[in-house]
Amino acid sequence: MRVLVVEDEKGLARALQRGLSAEGFAVELAHDGRDGLFLARENDYDVIVLDVMLPSLSGYRVCRTLRAEGNWVPILMLSAKDGEYDQADGLDIGADDYLTKPFSYVVLVARIRALLRRGAPARPSVLTAGDLELDPSARTVRRGAVDVALTAREFSLLEFLMRRRDEVVSKLDILQHVWDAHYDGDPNVVEVYVGYLRRKIDTPFGRRALQTVRGAGYRLAGDGG
Ligand code: CA
Repeated sequence: MRVLVVEDEKGLARALQRGLSAEGFAVELAHDGRDGLFLARENDYDVIVLDVMLPSLSGYRVCRTLRAEGNWVPILMLSAKDGEYDQADGLDIGADDYLTKPFSYVVLVARIRALLRRGAPARPSVLTAGDLELDPSARTVRRGAVDVALTAREFSLLEFLMRRRDEVVSKLDILQHVWDAHYDGDPNVVEVYVGYLRRKIDTPFGRRALQTVRGAGYRLAGDGG
C-alpha cells in the first residue's frame, strides 16, 4: 500500500517513513503543502498522512483542494493543536480521520489500516480469493486450514494483488504500491517476490492463484487458483 506523508518536521517525517516502511508500506515524503499537493495530484496513493501546519500551503488547504478536485484518497490529518475546534474543522473540509501530536506510533498505524479498510467499502476487511484468506489487521494469511507465514514485503505484495483480484496489474503498478515510486533498483525484484509468494501460497497446495499475464503483468485469480 502506497502512503504519502506530508510533514515539515523532517525528523518526524523520516521516523514515520522508517516505521511505516518496516510495516510493509511504500512511503513517500513531502515537506511542504505545495509539494504534498503536487504529489497527491500526480500519484495514486492509498492513504495520505497530512500535517495541518505546513509551509507554503496548510494541510487544510491541501485537503480542501483535493476534495474540490474530486480526489477522495483517504486522508489522516496530523495536528499539534488539541481541541474540538480543529477536529471539527479537519473533518469538515473532508479529512477522514484526525490525530493530535504527540501521537503513539501504534495508534497511527492502526488508524492507517482502518482507513485502508474503509477505502475499499465493497470489500470485506478480510480479503479472500477462494480458500486463500488475508487479514490485513491481524496480518495473517491462510490457505484453507493452513497458516502461511510471509515476510512483510511478501504480505504487502499479496495484499495489493488481493485488493485487485482478477485484475491484471503491471509490474510498474506493483513497484509503485509495494516498493515505492522512486525505487530505482532492478524492476525484476517484482518477479523474484512473485516467485517467493508462489512457493508459499500456491506450490505446496498444487494451486495457481498467482498468474503471469505475458507482457502485461500479474493477476491473482479470484477463485484462489
Ligand atoms: Ca508542521
